[in-house]
Amino acid sequence: MYDLMIIGGGPAGMTAAVYAARKKLNAMLLSKDVGGQVNWTLGIENYMGYQLIEGPELIKKFEEQVKQFPIGMKVGEGVSSLSRISGGFEAKTDGGEIYQSKAAIIVTGKRPRPLGVPGEEKLRGRGVTYCATCDGPLFADMKVAVIGGGNSALEAVDDVVKVAEHVYLVSLTQLTGDQILIDKVKGAGNLTMFLEHEVVAITGENLVGGIKIRNLKTKQERALQVGGVFIEIGLMPNSDLVKGVATLNRIGEIEVNCNNETDVPGLFAAGDVTNVPEKQIVVAAGEGAKAALQAHRYLQRLG
Ligand SMILES: Cc1cc2nc3c(=O)[nH]c(=O)nc-3n(C[C@H](O)[C@H](O)[C@H](O)COP(=O)(O)OP(=O)(O)OC[C@H]3O[C@@H](n4cnc5c(N)ncnc54)[C@H](O)[C@@H]3O)c2cc1C
Repeated sequence: MYDLMIIGGGPAGMTAAVYAARKKLNAMLLSKDVGGQVNWTLGIENYMGYQLIEGPELIKKFEEQVKQFPIGMKVGEGVSSLSRISGGFEAKTDGGEIYQSKAAIIVTGKRPRPLGVPGEEKLRGRGVTYCATCDGPLFADMKVAVIGGGNSALEAVDDVVKVAEHVYLVSLTQLTGDQILIDKVKGAGNLTMFLEHEVVAITGENLVGGIKIRNLKTKQERALQVGGVFIEIGLMPNSDLVKGVATLNRIGEIEVNCNNETDVPGLFAAGDVTNVPEKQIVVAAGEGAKAALQAHRYLQRLG
């Protein structure tokens, strides 16, 4: 049985791993990937020590630092469930492997929220994407749609108007993002906004060919020909694996106190998957460090 399992390999998980290793805990990090959302970020200007660094470059540095320490890492598979067992916790991976530990830290972050319309599932990765920063350049000189009206959608528009032939922004509401972002995009000559419109379907056989939208007031429908659809309607926490084990808040985030403790002794959580309000790399890293130190304290008390 390990002392500690760290589930998730983003900034919170990687930082927790370094702190756990420095406390000489027998720890294991299990993650679907290394880097999490940071892999989707082109330029980071607010991680201290770097005035500007690309996401994958920052993650490479995190990984190099973790690898300085003798800590077990299993990357490439998700953890599908976590249960309480006598003396600790048991995690089961998607591939059916079992890991047990005395304490655990959940640092599984967030994933993009799906739109839930016909065609989305079938055309995912075939023109339907959830990351304009990562995939925008693939749609150079094409007509594309960005779905959403908040900061994520406006940032996506700002990215893709530079490469696409034309961008349609479709939002259920008036724009809700920061005024500075609204001002930045609204003058773009190749942008048409459909506010208070809903997406009814994404169409196409093997690749996205268009979207159908409906005006919420007049109920009038129209079809737009596009080759790409960027769904930017926010993120949802990857907390399914602890549903029924620890308390989640109304929006599915794991509830923790200021010591990163959940309401289950020995189970800690940190980063974007928790109810800690600010979702930033530096915050996730700091929270990951706190969680590992608290887990160490818990294990010391266990003896
Ligand atoms: C497009 C974009 C741009 C951003 N730009 C910035 C920025 O400029 N500056 C900034 O500070 N922040 C930025 N952020 C926010 C920042 O990326 C996040 O706050 C940060 O990555 C959160 O770290 P985390 O470790 O909590 O979670 P994540 O980064 O989400 O990592 C979660 C990890 O858990 C793994 N995982 C998930 N589910 C499971 C499972 N069931 N089993 C095993 N492993 C699992 C994932 O594979 C991943 O490795 C941006 C986010 C996005 C989406």
